[in-house]
Amino acid sequence: MPSISLSAPLSGWLCPLEEVPDPVFAGGMLGEGVAIDPLGEVLHAPAAGEVIGFHEAGHAVTLRLPEGVELLLHFGLDTVRLGGAGFTPLVRIGEHVGQGQPLLRVALDEVVGKARSLVTPLLVTEPAGYVIEWIAPFGTVEAGDPMALLVRDGAVTADRSIGPAAALEEQLCREVRVPLAHGLHARPCARLAEVVRGYGAEVRVAAGGREASLASPTAMLRLAVRHGDTVTLLATGEDAAVVLGELARMIESGMGEGAPFPVEGPVKASVGEPVAPVSVADIPVPLPGAALRGVAASPGIAVGPVWRPVQAEPAIDEIGGGPEMETARLRNALVAVRIALGRPGAAQGEEEAILGAHLALLDDPELTGAAQALIAGGVSAGMAWRRVLHAEAGALRATGDTRFAERAADFIDLDLRVQWQLLGTEPPAMVAPAGAILVADDLLPSQVAALEPGGVVGLATARGGPTSHVAIIAASRGLPALVALGGGVLGIADGTTVVLDVEAGTLEIDPVAERVTEARAAAASREARRAAALAAAGRQGATADGTRIEVFANLGSLGDVAPALAQGAEGCGLLRTEFLFLDRADAPDEDEQAACYGGIARALEGRPLIVRLLDIGGDKPAPYLPIAAEENPALGLRGIRIGLARPEVLSTQLRAILRAASSGDIRIMVPMIARVEELRAVRQVLIAEAERLGVAVPQLGVMVETPAAAVMADLLAAECDFLSIGTNDLTQYTLAMDRGNPAVADGLDGLDPAVLRLVAQTCAGGSRVGKWVGVCGGLASDPLAVPLLVGLGVGELSAAPGQVAEIKATLAAVTDAGCAALARAALEAASAAEVRALALEMLREVGL
Ligand code: PEP
Ligand code: MG
Repeated sequence: MPSISLSAPLSGWLCPLEEVPDPVFAGGMLGEGVAIDPLGEVLHAPAAGEVIGFHEAGHAVTLRLPEGVELLLHFGLDTVRLGGAGFTPLVRIGEHVGQGQPLLRVALDEVVGKARSLVTPLLVTEPAGYVIEWIAPFGTVEAGDPMALLVRDGAVTADRSIGPAAALEEQLCREVRVPLAHGLHARPCARLAEVVRGYGAEVRVAAGGREASLASPTAMLRLAVRHGDTVTLLATGEDAAVVLGELARMIESGMGEGAPFPVEGPVKASVGEPVAPVSVADIPVPLPGAALRGVAASPGIAVGPVWRPVQAEPAIDEIGGGPEMETARLRNALVAVRIALGRPGAAQGEEEAILGAHLALLDDPELTGAAQALIAGGVSAGMAWRRVLHAEAGALRATGDTRFAERAADFIDLDLRVQWQLLGTEPPAMVAPAGAILVADDLLPSQVAALEPGGVVGLATARGGPTSHVAIIAASRGLPALVALGGGVLGIADGTTVVLDVEAGTLEIDPVAERVTEARAAAASREARRAAALAAAGRQGATADGTRIEVFANLGSLGDVAPALAQGAEGCGLLRTEFLFLDRADAPDEDEQAACYGGIARALEGRPLIVRLLDIGGDKPAPYLPIAAEENPALGLRGIRIGLARPEVLSTQLRAILRAASSGDIRIMVPMIARVEELRAVRQVLIAEAERLGVAVPQLGVMVETPAAAVMADLLAAECDFLSIGTNDLTQYTLAMDRGNPAVADGLDGLDPAVLRLVAQTCAGGSRVGKWVGVCGGLASDPLAVPLLVGLGVGELSAAPGQVAEIKATLAAVTDAGCAALARAALEAASAAEVRALALEMLREVGL
């Protein structure tokens, strides 16, 4: 059989696939290949074939060669988000093209600023028994240059066939007892399948009188192998002994989900074996009367029925546009979902492992083969996928084993992902019932931000952290919230009455009537205190002795101004400009930014407006300011580091602020400063832009969010106008605890004495050179922290808008001497709990 030659589809720089900054491509999950960093604007066909897929966003083309080989050309990374802007397809699905024929024209100028990367993988997604020899040297390449040879791999295909030839080969077998706590469920099956794919051998597993190929996670799942079961691994072909040994070792080791059985241990029946919970989803459903412990994210107490938003159902047509079209639609949808699931940051920890299993299921030939068979019979892509995945889910439920039945949800989840992708849309927004407590695995800032006022009265999440942006938004809305409650919270049935008591850190499930009454009374008295504070919101922020403490509000948009002023905000101590930049396809330009800042300044009617420069990166990604995958995003390109690395972003924002400055008392604040030279660099750009526009240089302040900035506070303060402590990040970096990681959320407390000592050091640094020091992180919104911060020397508090009146009421109740004494004691305390106890005692003494 003749070999097939592939030519370069683009001019540019040819590099190995492993260099693509995206694990889905780099890890070869979609197939073998290379990548080109393009210089040319036209993507050409690497070989003659039929166009069997062309994504509607125009960035990805799939070709099938007459020999059955399939190629995927994917222009850039995350370019699907551009929605077709900058891409002009030159061919259609179903068209036959010749080698070198132009397939796609790309406006590089337009796409370059918006895409995460332009690097373009060329992948052999279906080798059809051919072996690929990449012949072009890495480096400069011209479109049309010979790039690869595909030669028929007779030996390998013969070895891999399951026909009579294989039957004649020697079959090796090995018995293995399964120590995994939850048996061979989706994730271990996926990992085993991955190992098998790396060898030439055909491996099957036999259990309970049935057999399945180890190459198919779905088939393995159907065997419902449980903890303690003994299975037989059967292997034939090349490397049979080696692969058998490796698989047996993996299973016997427990694959991280169970201790290996002692070698001499008797073989026991699996039923009733104790199992150790290994994931959030495996925590048992809590019983009525029980209480789950969580981490305080936003203060308060609330009572109400649980509301778990239900995912909307996508509409699925029974009949599609014919087998050819539906095959292409399904293929494209699977590729898109695969890319979305594998995107860096798509998930972390347990969820990442679950997504890994979903990725393997997407690759499972049993699933795609079965869907393909239905499509060939005239069924639409969506209906075929739905039937196959629901049948698998049903089979798992029918095993009667709750552990496997729970895995059915993975198939349902995967079905929905692909259905929405086929429809090219997102699931519709959900409307919350009034008075309910929203329970979710985790929430996105945009989801909390989208909640209508008067709907939910509290939030409870399985995961999440107390200083996340979700917590910040909840606090700004006065919504009590507990996070990191664990997976058990997801087992509470909809409509169950719960008490969310943030101070106690508990979510009580279906408590007795007396407790419900008591909690309702506590919520009501808290409301009464809030109402009294609100009635006095117009007073100046000051202690009982009259020491002036400015009480500002943190804002994210123009819409936040009115509620903040209603609470008595005396200005804005932190405008989080990134909210203007997030959740949108492209960056706001200078005019849009100037209009936004000017509008907020005018709405504040002359009160100070401190505009923080863009703080993205870390836990706040923006799609159009792509940042290469980072091992430690919190320690990487974020905050002002991005502004300094992308000068046009910084100067555009500074110009917009300067243009808006005439609308009010606008000041500028720089996030994530760690070194004095960063401040100097920003000041230089600010002065240059102000000179260009012929306007005065506004006040420039530094956010103290890193321990480095706190210990250098005197030197920083000498070169700026004010310091404002971002206690959220300062806590994260001081304690080395990720603010978004529930595993450490328990210890992430801004009242930790280590953080307070840095606050004290910052205040001392500021006062040494006569500069004021404020706090704009979460501590400023915590009434317990307020007297302490005042005692440490803080002169301005910028709180969540919903907390402003209460903060003023707290200030009015405490004396300067009381605050100073509390601060002295707190600096000597050994733990955050001790500090909290001291602060609580003081507030109780003054009747709060
Ligand atoms: C902080 O870190 O405390 C802060 C106010 O900034 P953000 O929460 O937006 O990171
Ligand atoms: Mg911060």
